[in-house]
Amino acid sequence: MRGIVRFQRQSKVSDFDNLDHFEHAFSDTLLGGLPVLDVRLDEAGQIHHVLDGELPPVGAPVRGELDRQRRREHMALHTGQHLLSQALLRVAQAPTVSSRLGETACTIDVRRGALSDEEQQRIEALVNQVIDDDVPVRAYAPDPAELAELPLRRRPKVSGEVRVVQIGDFDFTPCGGTHCTRAGQVGLVRLTGVERHKGGLRIGFVAGPRARGVLFAESAALRELAGRFSCRPLDVPAAVDKLGRDGADAAGRLTRAYALLAGQLAERLLPTASPAGHVIAALPDAPVELLRAVATCLSRAPGVVALLAGSIPGGVDVVVSRGSEATFDCGRFLAQLASSCGGRGGGRPEHAEGRLPAGVDWAALATRARGAG
Ligand SMILES: [Zn+2]
Repeated sequence: MRGIVRFQRQSKVSDFDNLDHFEHAFSDTLLGGLPVLDVRLDEAGQIHHVLDGELPPVGAPVRGELDRQRRREHMALHTGQHLLSQALLRVAQAPTVSSRLGETACTIDVRRGALSDEEQQRIEALVNQVIDDDVPVRAYAPDPAELAELPLRRRPKVSGEVRVVQIGDFDFTPCGGTHCTRAGQVGLVRLTGVERHKGGLRIGFVAGPRARGVLFAESAALRELAGRFSCRPLDVPAAVDKLGRDGADAAGRLTRAYALLAGQLAERLLPTASPAGHVIAALPDAPVELLRAVATCLSRAPGVVALLAGSIPGGVDVVVSRGSEATFDCGRFLAQLASSCGGRGGGRPEHAEGRLPAGVDWAALATRARGAG
């Protein structure tokens, strides 16, 4: 059950980087033992906490608790977002339009058409340099004169008292969220992806304990792959390249083997052609690639129509192809046949492919239906 607890606004909740921050700033909080799912500020200035569970009676006092681990995670993500927004501005002149700190994904939207790999690396390097320098993070409410002098990354969204979050001399931003007290607590910031979004870019990132979790999981996956390839983790890309080349080589050899086999099969089948030039054959276990190769060989004879089937688990693959002087409409023939027996298939007049239900008698179907072509 979901309930809503309303609080009259007591102290001024000042500015947040955006409303999404506000919603997530409290998701590491319990009220009356119930998880706070969402926090909204309405136009009248009332704060609404959306709780998950049976609400306490109206007027009953409720006790607030913090989930320490989640709060640490949010503080790192939030401070990491400030660092990243400033680095985006300095390296790529890309101002932040909005940002989201979600349960699984954190993103920043910027007004910028593209971001090169080199720019992304410089942005990450700059942010992590500030983290390594472990500069202090300070949240305070400057007086109006002091505020006017600060190099704010963006204008405050509230009037009156404004809370500013200052990260060393690197970033000054009006914000009411929860942050680390030193940059070093952020640990690290890593970009996770850049994609186009509404004419700008949406940049994914992780920071702090969550970044560690993501990177450890990725490292474990890479080590597991390295174990399978019997190589070192950093040699996995080369091993995958080699696997791709080996696969392409094997496919090439298979194609040549099919061509060889197809030539021999076509030679054996050609004398079975009907007076009209129709060669009907069912080749058990033949994959569709082999059927195609045999059909290609057979239809080199100008007047021949090849009607071939190969049974596979769960169905019968069919390939129909004609020589340059045959007038048989392969596509129409196969489409009609497939619809009559619950299969699927069709194609051009010169060549058609399809799959029929398992157990169909191909020779009988093809012999009976070919008159329709
Ligand atoms: Zn903030």
